[in-house]
Amino acid sequence: MKICMIGGGYVGLVSAACFSEFGWSVTCVEKDADKLATLLDGHIPIFEPGLDALVDRNRAAGRITFTGDVANSVKDADLVFLAVGTPMRRGSGHADLSYIYAAVEEFAPHLTGFTVITTKSTVPVGTSREIERRLRALRPDADFAVCSNPEFLREGSAIQDFTHPDRILVGCDDERAKEVMSRLYKPLALRNAPIIFTSRESAELAKYAANAFLAMKISFINEIADLCEEVGADVQQVANAIGSDGRIGNKFLHTGPGYGGSCFPKDVSALVRTAREASSPLSLIEQVQIVNEERKQSMVTKIVRAAGGDVRGKTIGVLGVTFKPNTDDMRESPSLVILPRLMDKGATVKVHDPQGRRHAEAMLEGAVWCENAAKVAEEADVLVLMTEWNEYRALDLSAVRKTMKGDVLIDLRNVFNPADAEAAGFVYRGLGRPDRLLEPPVAKVVKANP
Ligand code: NAD
Repeated sequence: MKICMIGGGYVGLVSAACFSEFGWSVTCVEKDADKLATLLDGHIPIFEPGLDALVDRNRAAGRITFTGDVANSVKDADLVFLAVGTPMRRGSGHADLSYIYAAVEEFAPHLTGFTVITTKSTVPVGTSREIERRLRALRPDADFAVCSNPEFLREGSAIQDFTHPDRILVGCDDERAKEVMSRLYKPLALRNAPIIFTSRESAELAKYAANAFLAMKISFINEIADLCEEVGADVQQVANAIGSDGRIGNKFLHTGPGYGGSCFPKDVSALVRTAREASSPLSLIEQVQIVNEERKQSMVTKIVRAAGGDVRGKTIGVLGVTFKPNTDDMRESPSLVILPRLMDKGATVKVHDPQGRRHAEAMLEGAVWCENAAKVAEEADVLVLMTEWNEYRALDLSAVRKTMKGDVLIDLRNVFNPADAEAAGFVYRGLGRPDRLLEPPVAKVVKANP
């Protein structure tokens, strides 16, 4: 089976590499000249654990190639995947489908034989139908079917997620396409991965509903964490107690500085727009957006208070800036809101991130970059753990504390044991733990939906 993957980003590259590992012949089309040059040079333009070795192996076996030439890649393909970006459209909150439709126009002239066109990108309900309509207008002679195959992988564990999925979701209204999709995923079906076939609309909506639900879990536990601080409970104990209930589940119950990344913010926003336009608003999910925005500001307030009420002239050391560990993705990272606000208040912000600097440096203007965590701590008044990279877990807190000017450690991921941090000489402040600083509560404004 021959596959053409259009888009060589996080999803396109991982999907292309995993399909080639199944034994399929994959051509990945990337139109960004720099990314393509990197790929043709034998390197990977993103950081995703294990991806370089997987691509190297399959490239050497001749099963995966990279190109900018869409015509030759599409003409013999049994399957054309769309894995291009669908970012948030400025101002409206809708998904921007311009990359999808531009790609459709590019490949349409080159279709030959029966071809299954499949969206791996996250696209709003009705997009498969619209792709089909446009293709029929462009190529009334072509033999094709359009499917939806949303991707559920997580950056940082993308290969494991792709090869061991909880389910594979295929929205498909065409029997021949269904047979092709079943054959494509047979290597995973043989390992008992369930394939769920639905209508195209159901598959498209299910992807958004899944992301909105997970975002809701994060906002829920963040609000519970705030409550824990006020009433003397510990959010980790609460999360553990409720997460062991199979109806709730223990995933996505970790409090933090708010959700970010390339998916949740834009997908929640697009779902809210879809629902409003369908005159069926999702008031619960709209509130999740508000809670998440407020979360970032309340983290700023927490840091300022722990620093003594004013950060002017103070140095804040920040460990990690990516939206989560094991990725270099900075899209919608909470650090992009929190750190500029601290700098606006007059703080000097020193940062380190194991992989994020390449993208983050231009996005965090004014921040001082350090080559490791120890340098971040040197002479800092306050140390903030923003992203829970493993290398920060192993920090020698006593040694770090001795190089600092101040003694406050703010742990926005609850990574450290408070007793260990205090034994190392820190005034420790986590999230959703009984507050040892005896500060007044951060005032919360409960806003109505816009
Ligand atoms: P990305 O921005 O990393 O990658 C998209 C790539 O497509 C870019 O490299 C871009 O240059 C390329 N591209 C755009 N138009 C092209 C064209 N016409 N021809 C060839 N290449 C083209 O985006 P991503 O994170 O991989 O996300 C892609 C889609 O998958 C989005 O809809 C996203 O919501 C969805 N998704 C992402 C994740 C994730 O964790 N990143 C998870 C599940 C689903």
